[in-house]
Amino acid sequence: MALAPILLWFRQDLRLSDHRALTAALETGAPILPVYVLDDHAPGVWRRGAASRWWLLHSLTSLKNALSALGAPLILRRGHTNEVLGALAAETGAGAVYFTRGYEPWASALETRVKDALEPAGVTAKRFSGSLLKEPEAIRTLAGEPYKVYTPFWRAVGNSGPPAKPLRAPASVKPVKSKLASDKLADWKLLPAKPDWAGGLRETWQPGEAGAASRLERFVTDALASYADDRNRPDLEGTSRLSPHLHFGEISPNQCWYAAAAQASAVGGKADRGLETFHKELVWREFAYTLLVHWPDLPEAPFRKEFSAYPWLSDNANLKAWQTGCTGYPIVDAGMRQLWHTGWMHNRVRMIVASFLIKHLQIPWQQGEAWFWDTLVDADLASNAASWQWVAGSGADAAPYFRIFNPITQGEKFDPDGAYIRRWVPEIATLPNEYLNSPWLAPPLLLENARIRLGVTYPKPVVVHEIARLRALEGYERVKKANMAKTS
Ligand code: FAD
Repeated sequence: MALAPILLWFRQDLRLSDHRALTAALETGAPILPVYVLDDHAPGVWRRGAASRWWLLHSLTSLKNALSALGAPLILRRGHTNEVLGALAAETGAGAVYFTRGYEPWASALETRVKDALEPAGVTAKRFSGSLLKEPEAIRTLAGEPYKVYTPFWRAVGNSGPPAKPLRAPASVKPVKSKLASDKLADWKLLPAKPDWAGGLRETWQPGEAGAASRLERFVTDALASYADDRNRPDLEGTSRLSPHLHFGEISPNQCWYAAAAQASAVGGKADRGLETFHKELVWREFAYTLLVHWPDLPEAPFRKEFSAYPWLSDNANLKAWQTGCTGYPIVDAGMRQLWHTGWMHNRVRMIVASFLIKHLQIPWQQGEAWFWDTLVDADLASNAASWQWVAGSGADAAPYFRIFNPITQGEKFDPDGAYIRRWVPEIATLPNEYLNSPWLAPPLLLENARIRLGVTYPKPVVVHEIARLRALEGYERVKKANMAKTS
């Protein structure tokens, strides 16, 4: 008897290698129907931002081509996922839907709706892991609680045994015979309203599984050995830039984990520090997912509730200055312009710009999080929310609230030659290093010779660092008092 087809529902796992749901489906010997559903209307969904939609378009194109080459076209449909999958199961006589687990609150709720819609009709819904090294429920304290602090979480991940070894991509996929309707990707209108904006994204990235694999290969061969030292330097290509590929599941964290380990072993210990640091960063990602799974309101509300007492300001002019890279603080402006142009920003600079928004401008972290959500190609609910809360000081395992990054000394320390600032803020590029992070301190004659007119060719600082710092500290005193009132 012919086996009933299996629907392979692709989500944030847009790859063919190390794909447990795909491998398991193939092992049954049944014909496979790969499907992707654009479902922006699931309750609670954070609709993808502009940069993510751009990425999705290209990533789906790449997956579609790869599946066609294996003989199984990807079916694209738009609508409520449970209804779309139900209709496809009825059209094909499918007996099961296989998929990779999602962790966003709406993604988990959707899995339940899919199960509830399909199982009464005799279609089994089978969920597989594949986006994390370890399932969040597997890493718990001795008391059975989720970890709230990173370092013991990292240790517990280490003690839980090695991550699963990656699986190979299939050589062929047995397709479903029937001819099925599929949307055209172009009709989904995933490209940004301002087409020019995507130029920088196109120059910078190659979305899709092949792009992810070559990015990983380049990172482990060229940068892993120096990663521990260079990862904080935005002027160097010191990090992997794998974050959007990981977010869309074009590569698994397990593949990254083992490729780095293989390289470190190939160079006989020379990359061991880099390897440990890289593994630790992958585990920061796991930690963010653990927080999101256990505290699903992490993207919206402060983890430490007393942080609601911080005196936030509503300041559209300063928010706009921050978003457009016109704050007058060169390292902040460089980061925000890198983000706008490439859809990505270096981690050190993300911390500086986030601290600046929250502490210097006192603008709610949720507004920064929303801007990042719209403009980052790696916009990720868990990592974005956990990181914004970490910088705000309101998170589970947060930076101490009184650590207020000084945007001048941070720039001097992490961009010591000024190459990063000069690249992204060309209007002050001719300033000597001494004044590059604080152009307002440069002697008037020097500014004149460099053809810089502060307030005209480059903004004056929107706030004075020392004053803003004191104001933020006063604000945090209120948080402290709110906490004392809560605990007394
Ligand atoms: P690498 O240094 O090469 O690290 C390897 C991988 O580890 C990354 O690709 C990423 O998946 C993971 N990783 C590294 N650092 C972190 C971290 N602090 N938290 C979680 N995972 C990490 N990362 C996102 O993927 N999406 C986001 O939306 C996001 N928003 C952020 C917002 C703020 C305010 C801050 C401070 C950080 C944010 N990060 C986010 C974390 C981090 O900045 C990026 O993951 C990193 O810069 C990506 O570059 P990379 O791939 O070269 O990192």
